Amino acid sequence: MALLQISEPGQSAAPHQHRLAIGIDLGTTNSLVATVRSGVADVLPDASGARSLASVVAFKADGTADVGEAATVESSAYLPIRSAKRLMGKGADDLEGHWLAEHHRFDRSGSVPAFETAAGPKTAVAVSAEILAALKARAEHTLGGDLVGAVITVPAYFDDAQRQATKDAAALAGLNVLRLLNEPTAAAVAYGLDQGEALGAGSVVAIYDLGGGTFDISLLRLNAGVFEVLATAGHTALGGDDIDHALVAWLLEKSGLRAFPDDAARAEAVAQARQIKERLSAATSVDVDFVVNGESVWQGEFAREAFDALVSPLAERTLGLCRRVLRDAGVERDEVASVVMVGGSTRVPLVREQVSRFFDQDVLTDINPDEVVAIGAAIQADALAGNRPEDDLLLLDVTPLSLGLETMGGLAEKVIPRNTTIPVARAQEFTTYKDGQTAMALHVVQGEREMVSDCRSLARFELAGFPARVAGALRIQVLFQVDADGLLTVSAIERESGTVASVDVKPSYGLSDGEIESMLRDSMDLAAEDMQARALAEQRVEASRVLEAITAALDSDGDEHLSADERAAIDASVIAVQGALASDDRDAINAAVQALEKGSEAFVERRMNASVRRLMAGRDLDELESRNN
Ligand code: ADP
Ligand code: MG
Repeated sequence: MALLQISEPGQSAAPHQHRLAIGIDLGTTNSLVATVRSGVADVLPDASGARSLASVVAFKADGTADVGEAATVESSAYLPIRSAKRLMGKGADDLEGHWLAEHHRFDRSGSVPAFETAAGPKTAVAVSAEILAALKARAEHTLGGDLVGAVITVPAYFDDAQRQATKDAAALAGLNVLRLLNEPTAAAVAYGLDQGEALGAGSVVAIYDLGGGTFDISLLRLNAGVFEVLATAGHTALGGDDIDHALVAWLLEKSGLRAFPDDAARAEAVAQARQIKERLSAATSVDVDFVVNGESVWQGEFAREAFDALVSPLAERTLGLCRRVLRDAGVERDEVASVVMVGGSTRVPLVREQVSRFFDQDVLTDINPDEVVAIGAAIQADALAGNRPEDDLLLLDVTPLSLGLETMGGLAEKVIPRNTTIPVARAQEFTTYKDGQTAMALHVVQGEREMVSDCRSLARFELAGFPARVAGALRIQVLFQVDADGLLTVSAIERESGTVASVDVKPSYGLSDGEIESMLRDSMDLAAEDMQARALAEQRVEASRVLEAITAALDSDGDEHLSADERAAIDASVIAVQGALASDDRDAINAAVQALEKGSEAFVERRMNASVRRLMAGRDLDELESRNN
């Protein structure tokens, strides 16, 4: 079996030399950066000791930007930008009815909406780039060296456009992306669930992530060190903010106020509510002094039970989504081997209790829930930078480009689309093109373009020795399998005879991120051109198929069924199709083929009748024989 191996560039790090790599949790509310030092993963605080960076950006007229708490001090006519993550990879259409559009003015003239700022229009990518640049600077300052790159986490449900936008933001920030990692996978990695005997093969892990404004529940299946995302569910407006608002309503009622005098007073109340909430995670009761516009309006004790009553409806809603994700994945509740708690709001004791009760087990909370994603990303970054022993390497990946097969006409048929989580197996059926064909040449290609000539050739092999049949009668199943190492095996089997052949390929490696990106860019830029090329190629294949069938029929019994004149007419049509095929004119080819098909209708019919007669004769004979026995 041929084994094509292409070495992976940049993997031969000098031994003993630690390469600086970071993990970044680019969050909706808060972002963090972490790294592995002396074998321990930890979050990097800023100069004042703050471990997280608020995902808030304020651009200034001189083009620079404040990031984090500093950005929340209103310094210009523009509101500081929050929650930019929600617009990553989104178009102007997605802004219709979006709550962000109520708070910000947007420039919608481009293909991507941009926040209006003192420094001009800024896209979500540009905003995220500022956050990433701030975290990069923090890491470089703390670690005192150049970074080889970063692992950046994204929600498991992020689509291609959202992932690409995240990569674009990193490029703008001057960060080399070692890999994008799903947030739930990062959390599982932080707990070492992929390592050693932590969990048995095939175990299912649930990642419960309740942040400030979003809830996500993901089910992952662990196989040979690889996490496969089985299903995700969630809500884009469910989180700690809801608790804050419930608490504000409660305080308002207690103090006998009907409403807040102004927005500033309301914002102040939300901040107080958040503080009370966070204090109650560590204490069973807190003393409250509720202040509105500098005036104390209510004082009293706030006990955990009263707080729990406010939190309970929120927790119940998240459990409804947990039920749904189990149903979607076809997994029973007791099959879940481990539950990882992620997000600041899972510090709320009632949330932990409810989730533990739901899954009937202790949930994992040892690692700070708001840091666990960044920690996992740092561990993955450390491995990708080559700082870990070979056998400790993490094997989490997706296919960076589509994998497929060349079909007639030089077209690329995608079997495994890009960004599919590995390991993966996909099968597709193909058939023969010519009558009597007994072998098939299989050409494995990688890329997004429609024509094989624009894709990257990975391997060629042959499936030979299957029985001769008319074109289209045989079923050849081609199976693409990518294992946890990214090793592709393509095998083909002809069903009737059981003829098999296969080839192993090592895809994706050998291509730099830059090459992958330019292949992707080409596929988008040239999409229209490609469609034309594909349509022409398909037309050609169809024409050749008709030509092939008719000339074969003419050769075998043309003279038996056709007069000399009829034969000459069909021959002329055949020549016309051959002539048209030499051109690049789809319409001309189409017209010539139609004329040929029309002109040979009578011939085809006569042949059919003759073969039916032969068949009937054969049947009679068979029946006679069986009666004699
Ligand atoms: P995101 O992933 O959306 O960026 P985080 O995971 O950082 O958000 O979670 C932020 C939320 O966690 C906020 O609503 C915050 O009030 C809440 N939170 C943080 N610490 C605590 C705590 N000790 N108790 C309760 N809630 C907390
Ligand atoms: Mg988060």
